[in-house]
Amino acid sequence: MKTTKKFKTETKRLLDMMINSIYTHKEIFLRELISNASDAIDKRHYLSLTDTNIASSDYQIVVEADEEKKTITISDNGVGMTVEELENNLGTIAKSGSKEFLEAVEKENTPEVDIIGQFGVGFYSAFMVANKVTVLTKSVKDNTSHLFTSEGIESYTIEDGDKEDYGTIITLYLKDDTEDEKFTDYLEEYKIKELIKKYSDYVRYPIKTWVTKL
Ligand code: ADP
Ligand code: MG
Repeated sequence: MKTTKKFKTETKRLLDMMINSIYTHKEIFLRELISNASDAIDKRHYLSLTDTNIASSDYQIVVEADEEKKTITISDNGVGMTVEELENNLGTIAKSGSKEFLEAVEKENTPEVDIIGQFGVGFYSAFMVANKVTVLTKSVKDNTSHLFTSEGIESYTIEDGDKEDYGTIITLYLKDDTEDEKFTDYLEEYKIKELIKKYSDYVRYPIKTWVTKL
């Protein structure tokens, strides 16, 4: 079954800012998604201390690009998300970083461009570079798999997924290149490696990259 849900007003505001952002360091989306992947692995590891059935000896994050489909995927074998968690974590802004960001935009009356980089704007930063995002996940908590899809504007859908092992695969469908912005640069392995080195060097799990060449 596939259900469509509307984003909350606050989330819509943040999404709108991301989609229409003229921020010059859009590349930080990768840092945000890798940091979420790392957090998810931490959570699985923590839960596995008391539930050895969900332990893994091979924790890793994989960043892949597909030049033909113009997609980037960030995969982790972390805790995954239940359907409720997809709704609460990705459908609503629960996190403090995004709330603080919105408050700062309001208070300072600053164009978001000046302050976007000061906040961990999280998952939604994907919409600075992508016009569609899917999240395929399987949760260690209830063994179910779900697929979250959003084109970022008003709503998202959730349906049953077919992921077999625990964790999450986030796929970004990159925006079309414009004269000023070349989103397809992110499909280059050297670029991905450069960004990982620049922003995600501190991550304690292995980050593998792989680019599908045409
Ligand atoms: P933050 O990381 O500050 O909480 P984000 O917007 O980056 O905010 O992510 C929101 C929430 O979505 C996370 O707290 C987490 O619960 C969930 N989430 C995001 N990515 C993943 C992932 N790869 N695996 C599991 N949960 C995730
Ligand atoms: Mg985060």
